[in-house]
Amino acid sequence: MELNKAKQLWSTACEFLSTAISEDVYSRWIGVIDAAGDDTVGQLTLTVPNGFYQDWLKEHYLPLIQEALGAAGAENLSIVFRLGGSRHLNEGDTPEPAPKKSSRTKTRAAKVANIGVSLNPRHTFDNFVVGPPNSFAHAAALAVVEAPGRAYNPMFIHGGTGLGKTHLIQAMGQAVLKRGKGSVCYTTCETFTNEFIQSLQQHDLAAFRKKYRHIDLLLIDDIHFLGGKESTQEEFFHTFNSLHQNQKQIVMTSDRPISEIANLQERLVSRFEWGLVTEMDMVDFETRVAILRRKREELRIQLGDDCLMFIAQHVKSNIRKLEGSMLRVASYASLTRKAPTTETLEYLLRDTIEQENQTALSIEGIQRMVAEYYDIRLGDMTSKQRPQNIAFPRQIAMYLSRELTEQSLPSIGNAFGRNHATVLHAHRSVGAKMKKDANLRQTILSLHQRLGGVSAPS
Ligand code: ADP
Ligand code: MG
Repeated sequence: MELNKAKQLWSTACEFLSTAISEDVYSRWIGVIDAAGDDTVGQLTLTVPNGFYQDWLKEHYLPLIQEALGAAGAENLSIVFRLGGSRHLNEGDTPEPAPKKSSRTKTRAAKVANIGVSLNPRHTFDNFVVGPPNSFAHAAALAVVEAPGRAYNPMFIHGGTGLGKTHLIQAMGQAVLKRGKGSVCYTTCETFTNEFIQSLQQHDLAAFRKKYRHIDLLLIDDIHFLGGKESTQEEFFHTFNSLHQNQKQIVMTSDRPISEIANLQERLVSRFEWGLVTEMDMVDFETRVAILRRKREELRIQLGDDCLMFIAQHVKSNIRKLEGSMLRVASYASLTRKAPTTETLEYLLRDTIEQENQTALSIEGIQRMVAEYYDIRLGDMTSKQRPQNIAFPRQIAMYLSRELTEQSLPSIGNAFGRNHATVLHAHRSVGAKMKKDANLRQTILSLHQRLGGVSAPS
């Protein structure tokens, strides 16, 4: 459809949509859509800010949009979503209401100072809820922001997906900019790689190097992407050295520990370990509730505390899913104008809950799997015997129970016929051995995978 026609049609459809759904939902989901022109007859292309919008709109609002287009006189159009709306959001970000006009100048100011990929204005320290087990990474991030290049250089943050790594390092960038402590470049390792390749093709390596070597703070997200990319590793090695020698701060994130990034040059491994390595993990129940409350306020969502508690109780694996679940419930509540009951919540979140249950393992399941793996009897897990061939697998089972279940130390101890101190000791001892012994790490990883786990235990 030709551009002007598309725009006109969409604007009529929007009028219809704005009367059909609440203002809140409209501004969050519909107001951000742009109509675009294309060459296909009978097709309307709608651009949305990121993949999250695309999936959400397809799943929840496509019939309504189609109905609105019908009301605007265009029935049976095929709708195609395209990524790349007018506003910048990172892939996977949850949406927010369309920005008011007054915030425009602010965003522009931030872009001038940050020379990399633009920062999400919501990713600030203020919006980052601190709780175990993320308080250490948070404290380290604050220390680095206080004295970039001096406190811990480099800083390396690792942890599974959706646990707040990007949020935290973008917060560091915004804090440094706000305090005028120097120039900042936030980028993803993928962008770094693409720009490097492009600079080679365009014979403009000098500009590339100038960009990445003349800054005070380099924030590089998802560095595990470097694995196996030989020439980019070579280039990054020199970028790293140049910044480090000049006491410029480097902060990296990764979805796995340094030692588990496949095909990463030894000299990079050792450099990444020079400074501070910190891990982020899924936060506990209270912090999950606090995060949801913060989000509720930020997005001006109307949902009772009981709903938030329900969500926090059931979504335990990832903060992005936690937020997504709240948005789903909020959209339902605002569309139906009803407070969801427990049955409704269970229904709305059934897929997520099912996925979560698959990852929630029982201690007995772990004992059974470890016993099978080491070819010992299940009864050996709880027996008082201590020969090494039994004691060590038992410790591993305790370690995995602590890592993979939400059970407390005493109840894990109970399941093994022991007390909580024994579990704590086993956990520490296996953890320490894993650090030194790559084979053991591999064993634990493969046990974890057999147990149906999705991410590697620490
Ligand atoms: P990662 O980079 O580890 O995959 P993100 O930083 O993208 O995860 O976080 C996913 C979502 O969860 C983001 O919307 C982020 O704002 C939110 N989030 C993560 N941790 C926190 C936290 N401690 N407090 C508030 N929001 C958080
Ligand atoms: Mg990230």
